[in-house]
Amino acid sequence: MVVSIDKNAGFCWGVVRAIDFAERELQNSSKMYSLGDVIHNASEVNRLAKLGMETISVEHFDKIPAGSKVLIRAHGEPPSTYKKAVDFGIELIDATCPVVTKVQERIKKFVDKNYQVVIFGKKDHAEVLGLRGVTGDKAIVILTLSEALERVNLALPTVLFSQTTMDKETFASIASALKLKVKELVIGTIEDEAVEFHAKDTICGQVSGREKKLREFALSNDVIIFTAGKKSSNGKVLFAIAKEVNPKTFFVESNEEIDFSWFKDAKTVGITGATSTPKWVMEEIKSVIEKKAHP
Ligand code: SF4
Repeated sequence: MVVSIDKNAGFCWGVVRAIDFAERELQNSSKMYSLGDVIHNASEVNRLAKLGMETISVEHFDKIPAGSKVLIRAHGEPPSTYKKAVDFGIELIDATCPVVTKVQERIKKFVDKNYQVVIFGKKDHAEVLGLRGVTGDKAIVILTLSEALERVNLALPTVLFSQTTMDKETFASIASALKLKVKELVIGTIEDEAVEFHAKDTICGQVSGREKKLREFALSNDVIIFTAGKKSSNGKVLFAIAKEVNPKTFFVESNEEIDFSWFKDAKTVGITGATSTPKWVMEEIKSVIEKKAHP
């Protein structure tokens, strides 16, 4: 049985950058805080915890001693967090991914022009909380077209954005269906007034570019082990894609969850993961499978 690791899997550069920020700080101080898990991967969070990183939620800001250093992870934070940091005398180490910062800036421009902002994403996801914050929590967060049709008033100037880790095809289908609705609305108005609707595909290239390669990797192996943190949004999307092309795709958070009966009759096993999956986790899984297959 041949076991291989997907060369396109592993941390995206935004996550690598955030971890670099944390490691650099931890070289000079024995303690720092992170607002939420630096990445959705328990093994990597534990590794950083051993170096002195404590994960804390923004609601517990008041428990952080004044003067402490607090990391903002790649997902970013709403403007209220920056204000709180000033109020509590906390030094922020801002590792917001530049791609997310750009989306926040683009949303802000539309907010300033009084647009109704719609975000295709998960309402409680950290990145979406940050994006919502830019709109003063007024953005409408939707996951499906029917939700959009129910909640969005298309008679208002509207702009649709996306959480960076969502599925490109679903975004495109929601955007084109809404565009069509807007056209119907224009035809339906007596005065033929302009109804404005913009769709901004803000899905990260690191995620969307991976989908095609992941499909190829999943098809070229008999069994796929997909490893990611259970909380990883990007992990769920990519796992679903792999599972769709290869039903023998299994999700594990660590090598302890592997069931060796999955490999019965398999000649090739591929190991892959999310943008938040460390390479060392995939290497560990590879070696556990190989040891069992060739003791
Ligand atoms: S997936 Fe893209 S947007 Fe998200 S952290 Fe990585 S590089 Fe940044």
